[in-house]
Amino acid sequence: MYFFKNKFVNKKDVLLSPDDRGYYFGDGIYEVFRVYNGKIYEQAAHMQRLQRTASEVRIELPFTIEKMGHILTQLIEKNGLNEGTVYMQITRGEAPRAHPFPAQVEPILLAYCTEVRRPIATIHNGINAITLEDIRWLRCDLKTLNLLPNVMAKQAALDHGVQEVVLHRNGTVTECSASNLMMIKDRVLYTHPANHLILHGITRAVVLRLALSQEITVKEEPFTTEQLLLADEAFITGTTVENTPILQIDGKAIGTGAPGPITRSLQSEFERTFAQ
Ligand code: PLP
Repeated sequence: MYFFKNKFVNKKDVLLSPDDRGYYFGDGIYEVFRVYNGKIYEQAAHMQRLQRTASEVRIELPFTIEKMGHILTQLIEKNGLNEGTVYMQITRGEAPRAHPFPAQVEPILLAYCTEVRRPIATIHNGINAITLEDIRWLRCDLKTLNLLPNVMAKQAALDHGVQEVVLHRNGTVTECSASNLMMIKDRVLYTHPANHLILHGITRAVVLRLALSQEITVKEEPFTTEQLLLADEAFITGTTVENTPILQIDGKAIGTGAPGPITRSLQSEFERTFAQ
């Protein structure tokens, strides 16, 4: 079952219009929620980010946050989902193609569940990455549908035989194609500040809280790709990847080239945040 416009429908009845501004302009916003044990993880934080993005791009949410939460709960129930994700997007609406906001337009909500499971193997074994220039716009804090640079970056990683890209602006590390990046050096956790150059990840926030509770010093400050290559540990955080270790970047081992002890301890603390 999907939710489309204002009701639950089968996938074949999601009758998208070619005039949906999501197609023409990527004029829409989205969230991906993780479902553990049939429940949405960090729902309030995701909804808050959705609200913020909506207000920044001036899309009026079609329902209240409470109503959207109820829709997502019903979706999970109707689909009998125990572990997976919920995807929700809201486009500005349908109108003949023209750049200005249409005068009369109704935002369109689309939401559905997937059975995408936790990537246990990579969470455990880690991934490799390459560095790549971050060519995105200057509002990476907004979770909008304009993901072409992220798609290109991810494909560049796969073309290089690795799983992820570490994006940088003139040598300053920002984040990855669909996750935030953290590094550990001398027991200090470094990650890019939550400004306009990165998405303010919900998982990032959870992991930073966990790090502080483990008395790990957290420094939200920019660092370079050179500093990253000299880190003791590095890992990515994201709703679907959780906290995944990075073993090698540009063919160079990070630390020992195996998931590090702080990464491991943050992983087990993270698991406790959703375990029954
Ligand atoms: N950065 C980017 C570019 C992303 O697309 C995502 C998630 O999709 C993240 C970071 C991680 O954010 P979150 O932890 O909220 O999933």
